[in-house]
This record gives sequence, structure tokens and C-alpha cells, in this order.
Amino acid sequence: MVDLPRCRQATWGDADRWAGRIAERVRAADAIPQTIVALTRGGWVPARLLCDLLGVHRLVSLRAQHWGVTATPSGKAELTEGLSGSVADQRVLVVDDITDTGESLSLAVEHVRAGHPSRVESAAFLHIAHSTFVPTYYAEEIPRTAWVWVVFPWNYWEDLSTLAARAAAITPGIDAVRATLRERSGLDVPRADLERVAAHTPLDRPKGPA
Ligand code: AMP
Repeated sequence: MVDLPRCRQATWGDADRWAGRIAERVRAADAIPQTIVALTRGGWVPARLLCDLLGVHRLVSLRAQHWGVTATPSGKAELTEGLSGSVADQRVLVVDDITDTGESLSLAVEHVRAGHPSRVESAAFLHIAHSTFVPTYYAEEIPRTAWVWVVFPWNYWEDLSTLAARAAAITPGIDAVRATLRERSGLDVPRADLERVAAHTPLDRPKGPA
């Protein structure tokens, strides 16, 4: 049975609003960081927006891997590349797009702590209430009963390709895929976007045996 998750498509406007809300909270707490640590890959755009809003010039990266492909966790979260710069004696804000299990951000904060910063806080645009880790700042909470896969604008083509291939395994053909995505995932995507996906991901025939 092919699995298609419920999805929510986020826009660049949402991202702008979420970044603005977090920046306001950080300022209200008088907690402007000296260094922002971006979790790759989901945290990169949020972290860059927060750098801009908070006037932070130092952006360091840390690679976490957890969810292999769209809506499919790949076992336990792991940090697969260390910090790209030092955090020693810095006030640090660690940023990701969403805390779902919370494992990635939790591991990242622990790792940053080991680098002897003067303070560590964390932020995620969205926080799913079942997460075992609660970021210091988040813009919006998703109730645990309303889990969705959030299609962020910086992951749109990757998510769409994965989801469209799964929908094609149920009923092939661009129009059928479009209808399946609408009905099962709640995603309303332009036909032209699926045509673009179809240029590299076959959507017109059922998947053969694995
Ligand atoms: P986690 O370790 O479960 O908190 O999630 C790690 C990363 O996987 C997040 O930073 C996202 O990039 C991605 N991710 C996990 N759950 C979702 C979701 N429900 N919607 C979109 N992306 C997600």
C-alpha cells in the first residue's frame, strides 16, 4: 500500500511571517545572538532570514540527517557533519525549520553546548506538539493530533517529485497524480509543476516490481 501523507504547503509569505515573529520574540527577550547555527538543510533559509532580521553576521552550519525522503524518517537522527565554525564564548541561536520528533534540534543543541558557547538558545519556525524537544522560540505550534508534512518552499520540488511518484504508483498519469495529491495529501499543485516533475520522474506508468 502506497503511503501519501497529509501535507500543508507553506509559502514564502509564511516563511517571512514566521521569521518576523521569531525575531520579535528574540528582541523582546533581549537575546540577540552573536552566532546563528543553521541545521542543514531545513534550517538554512530560516537561519538566513533571522540573520537579516536580527543583524547577525556570523552564520555557521551543522549537518543533521533524520528524515531521508519526504515524510519518511530514516531511523535515528544523526549529526553527519560538525560545526563549520567555532561557537566558543558566543551567544548562539540554533535554527531549524520544524521540530517533529525534535531529535535533530535536540542533538544539535547538545553538540553546540560541547563547543563552550556562553549561551545557547534554539528556534524553529514550526513546532509539532509531540516533539520531545521544545525550542526556545517558535512561530507556530501544530497540535499533535494534526500532524502534517509541511512542504516548505525551499523543499518544494524535492517533496513534489517524491509525492508525485508515490501518487503515480497508485494511478499513473499527470492528471490522475494531480487528483490523488489533492484528495489524499490536500496538495493543490499546478499541472505545469507536475509536467516539470515528469521531465525527470516518470509519472505515466505504474512502478515495476522493486
Ligand atoms: P525531527 O528530527 O523529527 O524534529 O525532524 C528533522 C527534520 O526533518 C526537520 O528539520 C525537517 O527538515 C524535516 N521534517 C521532519 N518532520 C517534518 C514535517 N512534518 N514537515 C516537514 N519537514 C519535516
